[in-house]
Amino acid sequence: MAEQESLEFGKADFVLLDEVTMEHFMENLKLRFEMGRIYTYIGEVVVSMNPYKQTQLYGKDVIEQYQGRELYERPPHLYAVADAAYKAMKRRAKDTCIVISGESGAGKTEASKYIMQYIAAITNPSQREEVERVKNVLLKSNCVLEAFGNAKTNRNDNSSRFGKYMDINFDFKGDPTGGHINNYLLEKVRPWAPSGALLLGTSDAQLASLHLCRDPAAYRFTSEGASNNLLASDQSNFKDVAGAMKVIGFSLEEIDSVYKILATILHLGNVSFVAEGDAVAIENRELVSQLAELTSTQPESLLRTLLYRAVATGSGEVIEKGHSAKEANYARDACAKAIYERLFCWIVGRINTVIEVKNYDARLHGKNTVIAVLDIYGFEIFDSNSFEQFCINYCNEKLQQLFIELILRQEQEEYQREGIEWQHIEYFNNQIIVDLVEQPHKGIISILDEACLTGGQVTDTMFLESMNTKLGKHPHYTSRKLCATDKSMEFGRDFRIKHYAGNVTYSVEGFIDKNKDTLFQDFKRLMYNSTDPVLRDMWPEGEVSITEVTKRPLTAATLFKNSMVALVENLASKEPYYVRCIKPNDQKSPLLFDAERCRHQVEYLGLLENVRVRRAGFAYRQPYDRFLLRYLPRPPLLASLPPLLAQPPVLGAGRWGLASRAVTGSVCLSQAWRGALARRRCRYLRA
Ligand code: ATP
Ligand code: MG
Repeated sequence: MAEQESLEFGKADFVLLDEVTMEHFMENLKLRFEMGRIYTYIGEVVVSMNPYKQTQLYGKDVIEQYQGRELYERPPHLYAVADAAYKAMKRRAKDTCIVISGESGAGKTEASKYIMQYIAAITNPSQREEVERVKNVLLKSNCVLEAFGNAKTNRNDNSSRFGKYMDINFDFKGDPTGGHINNYLLEKVRPWAPSGALLLGTSDAQLASLHLCRDPAAYRFTSEGASNNLLASDQSNFKDVAGAMKVIGFSLEEIDSVYKILATILHLGNVSFVAEGDAVAIENRELVSQLAELTSTQPESLLRTLLYRAVATGSGEVIEKGHSAKEANYARDACAKAIYERLFCWIVGRINTVIEVKNYDARLHGKNTVIAVLDIYGFEIFDSNSFEQFCINYCNEKLQQLFIELILRQEQEEYQREGIEWQHIEYFNNQIIVDLVEQPHKGIISILDEACLTGGQVTDTMFLESMNTKLGKHPHYTSRKLCATDKSMEFGRDFRIKHYAGNVTYSVEGFIDKNKDTLFQDFKRLMYNSTDPVLRDMWPEGEVSITEVTKRPLTAATLFKNSMVALVENLASKEPYYVRCIKPNDQKSPLLFDAERCRHQVEYLGLLENVRVRRAGFAYRQPYDRFLLRYLPRPPLLASLPPLLAQPPVLGAGRWGLASRAVTGSVCLSQAWRGALARRRCRYLRA
C-alpha cells in the first residue's frame, strides 16, 4: 500500500514531502528511481521516470491489482490513472483525456501504450466479438503508426515524429465501441524511415518485385546515415507491422500498394539530374520506367513531371516551364516527402474507417463517452534545429499552457471564487512564449506567413530581418544581430527562442520553403491519375485542373497552429488526467540519475508549483448538485442544515462543494463526508 511503501521507497506522493523544496523533491525522485519506483503522484498527476529497462510493472497480475481500485489504494501507477479516467467516464459519463507530456525520450509513447493496454484488459468481460475487434485494432494501430511515423533521432531511438491524439469511444456498459485518431504534422525530413525497414525486413522475392536490393547503401536516402539511422530491430519490426496491418483490416492489395509506395520513395531519391545546355535531363532513365510501374502511372507523364512544371498564365493558358537542375533536385525530394506524408495520413485515415463508431444509438444506449489519450512529440533540442523543431516545441508550449491553465491557474482562482483563504502560488506562465509564436500580426507564424505571401523572391534571411525588426525587444526572442556578443548563433542565419523548457537556436534556413510546402500541381495530378487506387486516394486535389487552382492554400505553420488551437480546445472540454514524464539521463542508462537534467525538467514542468497548489488545496471536491444528491440527509435533518447547503440554487457563484467548507460548515453532513472521505483515503482534508 502507498503508506507502507512510503517508508522504504520514499514518498509515494510528493504532496506528502516534509517540506516542499526542490531539494526534498529531488531527493524523493532520486530515491524512488533508484528503488525502481518509477511512478510518483502529485495528487492525481503521475510523475513517471523512464526506467530505460524492462520491469515487472505491467503484467496481467498487476492490472488486476489496480482494476476498480481508488487511486491511493495501490502504489502509484499509470494503471491507477487509467482506471480513474475510466471510472469517471463510466460512473459519471464524463469525457476524459489523459495528457502525456515530457521531453523527447522521456517515455510518453510507452506510457500511452500501457494505458491503452490497461483499458483493453479491463473492458469487455463478456467477450463481445465486435468489442474485441475494436480493442484489437486500437492496440495494433500503435505498431503500424510507429513503424511509419517514428524514427531514430539523437534523443530517442524510437522517437515519435508525429503527434497522436486518440479518442476511444465507450458504450453504456463501458466497453470500447470504436475510436478515432488525429495525427498532427508529421516531420517528413526522413521520408525513407519506413522504407529502410522494408529493405531489411521483407523477403528476397518481394524486394525483387519492387526492383530493390537489400543494401541500404544503394539508395541515397538510406545511405545518408544508413548505419546509425536504421533501427536494429527493423527486421523483426517489419514482420510485426505487416501482421498488424492484416489484423487491422488492410487488404492484401492495399498492403501491396503500401510496399510499392515505400519502394517509390527510395527509387525517387536516386533519380539524378544532369544539365543539358539550358535544360535538364535525367541521368538514370531506367528508374523512370521502374517508378512508373510502381506508381501505376505513364512513364512519359512521370518524366515530364520530374523535368517540367505547368504554369497557368494570366489569360488562362497553360504553359510548361523547364526546371533548373536545382529546382529539379528540390522538387524530387519534395515529392518523396509528400508521398511519405500522404501515405502516413492515408494509413491513419484507413485505420479510422475500421474503428469508426457505427450505428451507435444514443437514444437506446445512453451517451457515447470518450477517453482521449494524447501522445505527442516531446520538446527537443538538436545541434541544428529547423522549422520542424519550431513546430514541435511550439506544440509543447501549448500543452504546457494547458497544464498551467487547468492545474495551476484555474485551481487557484477556483479557491478564490469560493471565498477560501488562499495564499497565491507563483509560477512561470509561458503564455508569453505562446504569444510570441502565434499572436496574430505580431507573432513568428504571422511574420513567416507574411514573408511567404509576399510576391517575388523572399529569402529566409529576409524573414529573419523582419523578425528582428518586429520582435527585437521581446524578452524571449533574440538573434545574433540583436546580441552581437553571442557567438553561439550564426549571424544572419539563426534566431533563438527562450522556451519554457530551455533555449533553442533555430536555423532560419528552409523556413520559407517548408512553410509554403508547395508541391507542383503536376505531381498531384500525376498521382491522382494513377491506376493504383491507394495512391489515387491520397491526392484528391489532383482532380482540379491547373487553371482552376487560384486559392492560396494555408501555410504549413498556420495549419499546424490551427490544429493546435483545436486540440487544446478539445482537451480543455474534457476532464484531464496528467502523466508528466521525466528522462533520467541522456545516455539511455537505467542506472544513472542525472540530477541536473532531472532538476531542469522538474523546474520547467512546474512540478514543484504543482505540489504547492495541490498541498494547499483540496484533493476531493464535488459540484454542489452531486454533493447533495449523494449526501442529502433524510427530511427531518434537512431543516437543521445551514442555509448555505439547504438551498442548492442559492449556493452562489461556486461550482464546487469544497471539502473544507462543506464538512466544517455543516453539522449534519460532516459525518457522511468524513465517512466518504475516509473510504476514499483522502489525506489532505483540512480540519
Ligand atoms: P519522443 O518525444 O521522442 O517520441 P517519448 O517520450 O515518446 O519520446 P518513448 O519512445 O516512449 O519516449 O521512450 C523512449 C525509450 O525509453 C523507449 O523506446 C524505451 O526503450 C524506454 N522506455 C520508456 N518508457 C519505458 C518503460 N516504462 N519501461 C521500459 N522502458 C521504457
Ligand atoms: Mg514518442
